[in-house]
Amino acid sequence: MARIGIAGAGLLGRLIAWRLAVAGHAVEVFDPADGPAPRFDGQGAAGFTAAGMLSPLAELDNAGPTVATLGLRSLALWPRIAQRLAAEPAVQALPDGAPQVRVQGSLMLAHRSDLGAAQRVLARVAEGRTIGLGAPQPLDAAALTALEPALHGIAHAWLLPGEGQIDTPVMLQALAAAATAAGVRWHWGATVTQASAGQLVLADGRTQRCDTVIDVRGVGARQAGPLASADPRPHLRGVRGETVWLHAPGLGLQRPVRLLHPRHRVYIVPRAGDRVVIGASEIESEDRSEVSLKTAVELMTAAHSVLPALAEARILRLDRNLRPALPDHEPRTVIDHGLLCINGLFRHGWLLAPALVDDALAAADLAAPLA
Ligand SMILES: Cc1cc2nc3c(=O)[nH]c(=O)nc-3n(C[C@H](O)[C@H](O)[C@H](O)COP(=O)(O)OP(=O)(O)OC[C@H]3O[C@@H](n4cnc5c(N)ncnc54)[C@H](O)[C@@H]3O)c2cc1C
Repeated sequence: MARIGIAGAGLLGRLIAWRLAVAGHAVEVFDPADGPAPRFDGQGAAGFTAAGMLSPLAELDNAGPTVATLGLRSLALWPRIAQRLAAEPAVQALPDGAPQVRVQGSLMLAHRSDLGAAQRVLARVAEGRTIGLGAPQPLDAAALTALEPALHGIAHAWLLPGEGQIDTPVMLQALAAAATAAGVRWHWGATVTQASAGQLVLADGRTQRCDTVIDVRGVGARQAGPLASADPRPHLRGVRGETVWLHAPGLGLQRPVRLLHPRHRVYIVPRAGDRVVIGASEIESEDRSEVSLKTAVELMTAAHSVLPALAEARILRLDRNLRPALPDHEPRTVIDHGLLCINGLFRHGWLLAPALVDDALAAADLAAPLA
């Protein structure tokens, strides 16, 4: 059994804390948030803001084959994680219950005038065949209506088989509850200023010594100091993303939908309780302030252009956060004598986390892979 100190209780922090506590380690987690509940003020974990699309195929438009390969592995792991969490009484007792992972494919759509942009994206997505991903399947109007009757006015549509989605706030709360039940100790209101081999330094001056420090603070991990040259943390940046949450009773959308457009990519993700999340802007800025009018108008106009029934939806929330990114937009794991850092998950954190964590914990000799 090792004493583990984890800096950050976002997506990676909670998943790792649960995995390590179940593996029998003594785990303590430090995070500035005031508790495990979701926060939507732009200051907390990006994991809460994420739409939770699990899209290895569609993400080939933005990322290389490493991301798709890790994503494919994670897609097989998430249902197993959800199944284990669902068996945990502490998770069953949560108000939202056990998290669901839905894998029913996703849809790519384009209006008639945007076929050129769509074809460029499809050419990149076609590379997925070389790593074992299914090809996008073109749908005619009847096939599209049979799958998603709420969609209207679309000239071109493709089904991306095997893609999925997760309700991110529900999963994050389930991971925290299961980790607590497995013995994890949480230190809320605790900002880590320095995470180095075997030692965490907190903003109030206290130090915490442990066998292994795990730094998963997302954008908050950017720190100066005497770091090894391979340390990715000084190179981190935040990329702003904004979303709109709607309540749309009776919409009946079953699967995530991506609308291809020459200027922006818009996706619409259905969630339980007749809710829908529309995302997301991608802006080179670390501004955490409220959602701009421009983004809100663009996202909602694009969504309404394919789902006219959204006209009477109610706006529940406008949310924003920062995606932790490294210069090459690839994730990075560094293991160095008593320090493990995972970061740079950018716009694919949910898609990548289970496989990345499996590999990192096995390589650091802390837990056997789930796979
Ligand atoms: C708008 C938007 C949409 C997205 N959509 C998707 C999607 O559909 N699919 C997908 O796969 N990914 C998506 N993502 C990306 C995904 O959310 C991130 O990649 C993922 O959350 C990164 O996980 P993380 O654990 O590294 O960071 P986070 O989830 O941000 O967690 C970092 C944690 O560290 C804590 N922290 C920060 N500073 C400190 C400190 N000094 N001391 C201690 N703790 C600290 C924070 O409070 C937080 O709890 C989206 C992101 C955004 C913003």
